[in-house]
Amino acid sequence: MTAFKTLDDLGDVTGKVALVRVDLNLPMKDGLVTDETRIRASLPTIVDLAAKGAKVLLLAHFGRPKGERVSTMSLSLVVGAVEKALGKEIMFVPEVSGPVVEQSVGILRPGDVAILENTRFWKGEEKNDPEFAKAIAEVGDFYVNDAFSAAHRAHATTEGLAHLLPAYAGRSMQAELEALDAALGNPEKPVAAVVGGAKVSSKLDVLKHLVGQVDHLIIGGGMANTFLAAKGVDVGKSLCEHDLTGTASEILETADKAGCTVHLPYEVVVSKEFAANPPSLRTCNVHEVAADEMILDVGPSAVEALADVLKTCRTLVWNGPMGAFETEPFDAATVALAKTAAALTSEGSLTSVAGGGDTVAALNHAGVAADFSYISTAGGAFLEWMEGKELPGVAALSS
Ligand code: ADP
Ligand code: MG
Repeated sequence: MTAFKTLDDLGDVTGKVALVRVDLNLPMKDGLVTDETRIRASLPTIVDLAAKGAKVLLLAHFGRPKGERVSTMSLSLVVGAVEKALGKEIMFVPEVSGPVVEQSVGILRPGDVAILENTRFWKGEEKNDPEFAKAIAEVGDFYVNDAFSAAHRAHATTEGLAHLLPAYAGRSMQAELEALDAALGNPEKPVAAVVGGAKVSSKLDVLKHLVGQVDHLIIGGGMANTFLAAKGVDVGKSLCEHDLTGTASEILETADKAGCTVHLPYEVVVSKEFAANPPSLRTCNVHEVAADEMILDVGPSAVEALADVLKTCRTLVWNGPMGAFETEPFDAATVALAKTAAALTSEGSLTSVAGGGDTVAALNHAGVAADFSYISTAGGAFLEWMEGKELPGVAALSS
């Protein structure tokens, strides 16, 4: 893992100004925050820095204002929700640099917290403009990045600032990097990866990277159909990217050479229509799918075999559901495999890390999210990490 400094490496920061990049890109409805997960994620860092007596200036983006001031995307709208979660008053500063910020810093006492305006109101943010970053850095004594979810972007407040001030990983960033390192960077072997979801095309780079990293690659979801088709299986009406069967074959060959065992479903749950509990629902061997049927989940015996694979592994990384889990009963394979992974994790025999928007929803649906070793809510950044890419926001923290 790239070495980085954490808040434990800070000396006396009483009265010093911390510029802290957090994720406050909060889902809102009718002016209210509908999910506080991201606020909660940033609390340990804010509380820690405030307790150390720093003046804490929070930097974040909110929506896509494209370099203009857009009132509906002002971070002033989230101040109330952050105050409530933090349990203390927060100052809002409608700028990110210049005299208004300087005056605000003068008013703040050690341990106080302020939220600066949406960094994307300025074009320099997404352009990673050095002048823009320099203007922000002017008031700061040090920089903390606690937004792993934005670390795949080289923007002024996610990357640029790290080069201008002493840079530290916040608690959330630190936890994420440690979990990801335990899952793929430096994992205990054998390692299994579960990759599912709708399409191969959205996860080609993930699959290509994983076959060189893991001992077992379990492919489920709609993307498994493309692999089955590549092996000559007739998948009927299933979601399948027939133009990618060549690529799928190449991935299977690479896996073979690398000593990675690929597990494709040999038994599937099919139906003629995509609806909840359809009358035509049945379970069959992959070679028995009729021309008017579609594969919507992995079959129960096949899931049991996959559970047995997990039992032989020490590490699991999971992205993508095994079936169309939003519609019953096509959640069965995802729920069953998730429960096995959770039980093995609770027993201490498996380190389990999962991420991806729908994956997190599926694990919550299975009721096991809390039992996984780590669940990443980072979305794009998590996928890029699974592709083996270096994230600019993380690279800039390396010391
Ligand atoms: P994530 O957001 O976790 O990265 P994806 O977006 O790649 O996951 O995939 C999730 C979607 O894949 C879900 O909406 C699910 O319904 C769909 N899916 C899974 N299996 C199938 C299948 N056999 N046929 C059609 N859609 C599927
Ligand atoms: Mg998705």
